[in-house]
Amino acid sequence: MTNDEIIRSLREYDGPDMKLMEICGSHTAAIARSGIRTLLSGKIHMVSGPGCPVCVTVTAYIDRLIELSRNRKNVICTFGDLIRVPGSSENLGKARAEGADIRMLYSPFDMMPLAEEEKDKTFIFAAVGFETTAPVYAGLLSEAEDRRIENIRLLTSLKTMPRVVERIGNRMDGYLLPGHVCTVSGFGTYEPLAEKLSIPFVVASFEPENILQAIYAMVMLKDKGIVRNFYPSAVTRDGNALAREAVDKYFEAGDATWRGLGSIEGSGLYLRREYTGFDAGSAGLTDDHETAGCHCAKVICGEEKSEDCPLFGRSCTPSSPKGACMVSGEGACFNGYHSEMTKIS
Ligand code: SF4
Repeated sequence: MTNDEIIRSLREYDGPDMKLMEICGSHTAAIARSGIRTLLSGKIHMVSGPGCPVCVTVTAYIDRLIELSRNRKNVICTFGDLIRVPGSSENLGKARAEGADIRMLYSPFDMMPLAEEEKDKTFIFAAVGFETTAPVYAGLLSEAEDRRIENIRLLTSLKTMPRVVERIGNRMDGYLLPGHVCTVSGFGTYEPLAEKLSIPFVVASFEPENILQAIYAMVMLKDKGIVRNFYPSAVTRDGNALAREAVDKYFEAGDATWRGLGSIEGSGLYLRREYTGFDAGSAGLTDDHETAGCHCAKVICGEEKSEDCPLFGRSCTPSSPKGACMVSGEGACFNGYHSEMTKIS
């Protein structure tokens, strides 16, 4: 089928309403940027899922980073997004303005030369992410061991996807699976779940045409518990065993708390006992305090759209975010806000 035929078919779809979740924040951003929603029938509802690492990080984690930053011997290293995520009372940006040494890095590996130069400091990386990012942190620890760098730590909030998808379960009619996560985990991981839920799971890249093909496949495969891979150039059934082995060496599964979804058994990755010397205190960060009126919890699990939140576009905007979903470029509210602005202009 040509792309034009796929678009026509999706636009003219008149079957039962379908709620399809793009699990991954990168898909949320790609769908918003490309305007894919405007090409779909009003009966096909794309909803954003819990695959934005910043959005699902609980406030206790931000609070812990701020607490660590108060020790003048610590340097907190992070990707840019996390700086503006609200903790229970303030964010990292405010702590930095008050004098904390918080540095934004493009890669965790950028921390290595800094740690080697400033040996009197402890460098702590805010290690958030999913299956795709975990091998990077494993690589970092491996290099730290090789180079005998002892003044680096991780504060981990690493999560894995299958169990959170299982938790959301049949509230969706299909799941768009993230290409990069499946590159590591393999799409075979999702086959038992698709079968159990009797709904289609489809892997796609982040190219708009590929996403449209995947949406079309989910519509055509309604109620069929199967997985389809539309990204065969990068994704296989078994994934990348070497990357998983590297992760398994340093990390083990444990329960994790997700913003909006609570604790999910075995959905987190924590440093193994023999590597806790690298840990900055990642266990037990479960408290979560949403800003009054913020509906992130419902947005993250697809129960509500961003526009349903009373703060959306009013007191909560990308320049003044009240919840994590408005901070990250992968967040549902951030992308919803920019889509609305595009319509107005
Ligand atoms: Fe939270 Fe802002 Fe999104 Fe509302 S619009 S759910 S306050 S992030």
